[in-house]
Amino acid sequence: MKIADRIGHITGGGSDGWEIYYRTSAMIEAGERVLTLTIGEHDIRTDPSILEAMHRSAMAGNTGYAFGAGKQTLRAAIADRVEARTGVATSWRNVVVTPGGQAALFATHMALCDAGDTALHCDPYYATYPGTIRATGAHAVAVPTHSRDSFLPQEAEISARAAGAKTLLINTPNNPTGVVYDRATLEGIARAVRAHDLWLISDEVYDTQIWQGQHVSPRALPGMADRTIAVGSMSKSHAMTGSRLGWVVAPEEVAEAINTLATNTTYGVPAYIQDAALFALNQGAEFEERIAAPFRRRREIAMRVLEGSNAIRVIPSSGAMYVMLDIRATGMSGNEFANALLEAERIAVMPGESFGAAAAGHVRVALTIADELFEEAMVRLAGFAERQLP
Ligand code: PMP
Repeated sequence: MKIADRIGHITGGGSDGWEIYYRTSAMIEAGERVLTLTIGEHDIRTDPSILEAMHRSAMAGNTGYAFGAGKQTLRAAIADRVEARTGVATSWRNVVVTPGGQAALFATHMALCDAGDTALHCDPYYATYPGTIRATGAHAVAVPTHSRDSFLPQEAEISARAAGAKTLLINTPNNPTGVVYDRATLEGIARAVRAHDLWLISDEVYDTQIWQGQHVSPRALPGMADRTIAVGSMSKSHAMTGSRLGWVVAPEEVAEAINTLATNTTYGVPAYIQDAALFALNQGAEFEERIAAPFRRRREIAMRVLEGSNAIRVIPSSGAMYVMLDIRATGMSGNEFANALLEAERIAVMPGESFGAAAAGHVRVALTIADELFEEAMVRLAGFAERQLP
């Protein structure tokens, strides 16, 4: 008896890229003080008012099976929100509620890719992307982006790999780089996608975390609504990571296919979680701004402290809960830098290499600890980097 090859295929047999995180957890368990800037999760918990709504719903009896694509009220609220933000007519029929954005990414690739198909994603990427694609039986092919272009995807790089591919997965605001794709970049992506007849899967789970410019959903570009599947989530916008509620917004036939898959995999999302999400969405933009505000402040701190450094170039980040630092001037790889920083300063950051070859020589800093501690971490990180200069 043996485990299916599919599982080994998910990681490609290599490391999962989270060694620093595991090392840090072991240090903390052993009682050491480590400033941890690794994982993309808020340092606050879900707001009590949302938990109360969840409790009320559960106590009212909403604890049975919740088959299907989600409650129509929630699907309609998500559709209205998307329509208001993008100007694209969106019906509740276009929306499928999923157990988080991650499940939405998996379901979308399952619905669009057959085994053996090629599915493109940008590099650097959110750590699960290649594994999510491989789990469907498709081949994950990376489209490199470049530090010199602020990691914005270039039309030519996509086109060079697009022949015969089925899908392209993009992410704006971006994890790990913090970069928000501008309209011209998205228009280039849209041209490549149309020229090669691809589906575009647009991961927009950080769409409420914009520090500069504005979020443009590619679904809003001319001719793109019919071929774009946008993925959203309550995790980052409402600090609801543990509640597992996300969604896809897709053409109706794709939404139906994803619903068919859900009937045979997840059975949908618990009704009391859906009710809590609806409550949370109804709290409006000010609530979301309050959840995002700490990351906005800490990004400012990082920019201020690292400005003028000879050892570090900050990738111009304008969204999401991360900043990406180019540390190639030190002559170190991202892995070497992150491990040495942890050793010398007890500060944990993620090596760029954990997010793909294109981010080699970079490290990702999560903006996820209290402002004073974050400032201390940046000052010490900057000093450490200066000392590594050849
Ligand atoms: N996409 C990106 C870019 C992410 O960073 C994450 C979580 N870190 C997810 C999707 C998945 O989030 P969730 O499943 O909690 O919605």
